[in-house]
Amino acid sequence: MDVFDPVKYSLAENKFFLKHLGESPITVLKDSLPEGVNATAVQEVLSTVYQLEEERNHRGWVWAGIEKLKASIETYLTEWIRWKEMSARGAPRFPSMHTWDSRGRPHRGGIGSDSGSKISTYIDKDGNRHKLALSLRDGPVEGFIPSWIKPEAPLPDDLDIDMDAGTVACPLCGWTTNYSSGSQSQLNLARSRVAKHLKSAKEEPERHRDLWQKLFT
Ligand SMILES: [Zn+2]
Repeated sequence: MDVFDPVKYSLAENKFFLKHLGESPITVLKDSLPEGVNATAVQEVLSTVYQLEEERNHRGWVWAGIEKLKASIETYLTEWIRWKEMSARGAPRFPSMHTWDSRGRPHRGGIGSDSGSKISTYIDKDGNRHKLALSLRDGPVEGFIPSWIKPEAPLPDDLDIDMDAGTVACPLCGWTTNYSSGSQSQLNLARSRVAKHLKSAKEEPERHRDLWQKLFT
C-alpha cells in the first residue's frame, strides 16, 4: 500500500483511524470494532502505518507520517460535512466532481473535475483543488504547510469552564451558558448546549465546526 485515500473508507473507519493509527493492528483488532468499521478494510492501513513507524524508529526511514495522514482524514471529514451542508442548500452532493463556471453553475464531469465515480479532490475557498489521497513513502516536505493547517491559531483543547461561577463558555467567541455549579449532570447539559452553539455559530462557522469535531466527535 503506497497511497492512503480517505475516500476509500467509511466515515466510521476514518474516525477509527484517527484514534488508532500507529497502534499495533493485532492489539487494536482483537477488541470488537465499532459499527461501520470493517476489519479487513482497516487492517491494511493499520499494518502499513505500524510497519512504516517501525522502519522509521529502527532504521530512520522517513515516510509521510501519522500527523499528515491524520490531517488528510480530518480534511476529508470536514469537507464531507461541508458537502452535505452545501447539498442541503441545493448544491450537487459531491462538488469536486463538477467544474464550476464563473456564474457558479456546476457542470458534472467538466475538464479538471474528479473523473469516474469517485471523489479525489476537494476545492478550497479560493477555488483551488487539492488531492485528498496521500502518498505514504514521500517524506514530509521541509517548510511545507498545507492550506488547511492554521498554525498561528491552534484550536483550544477544551471549553472554558468556570466551576465556581457555574458557567461554560465557547473559547472561540465567548458565548456563555450557566448551570447550577456542583452538579455534574447540569454541567454535561451545559456542555451540550455549547456543542450545539459550535455547530450553529454564524461567526467563524468553520472554526466553530472544527472545534465541535475536535471536542465532541
Ligand atoms: Zn462561539
